[in-house]
Amino acid sequence: MQNPCDIISEFGSQVNESFDLFEKTRRETGFTICKVLDDSKLSTTSTCVGEKCFLTEKPCYDHKEVFGTFHTHPYGIFRPSPIDIKTALTFRMPFFCIGTERNSKRNVKCFSINTEHPNFEITRHKILTAEGEELERLSEIAKKNFIKEFECKLETT
Ligand SMILES: [Zn+2]
Repeated sequence: MQNPCDIISEFGSQVNESFDLFEKTRRETGFTICKVLDDSKLSTTSTCVGEKCFLTEKPCYDHKEVFGTFHTHPYGIFRPSPIDIKTALTFRMPFFCIGTERNSKRNVKCFSINTEHPNFEITRHKILTAEGEELERLSEIAKKNFIKEFECKLETT
């Protein structure tokens, strides 16, 4: 898979819109990138405010699949939460990106997921129903085995 930073940079204005909303509300903001099946065309959902709001409703309409997400984290923390990992694996997302702010500087990191890894399906199957410590443990396994981190150089305002 290509560097996910290249993909998210195509949606730089929406990344900035998410940051703007985040500054205003101090809540998680984000959007979902959708892919038309058997096509390379990408589209996005609208930017929304609230915990994983961009995924709670059917995020991508007919004939589209979830290709990736962008969401903001408070306190300048990039670390994907166990819920972030669970969500990404559930949708078999090839990548997701997290934005943080420190000293009013906006930063983005992306995480690619190797869904072809031999342990992907079994880990996904286990994580679907996992909670608490078991979810923590499985998300660490997923990160170690098939999730790769990329620091993005984005033109953010
Ligand atoms: Zn998160």
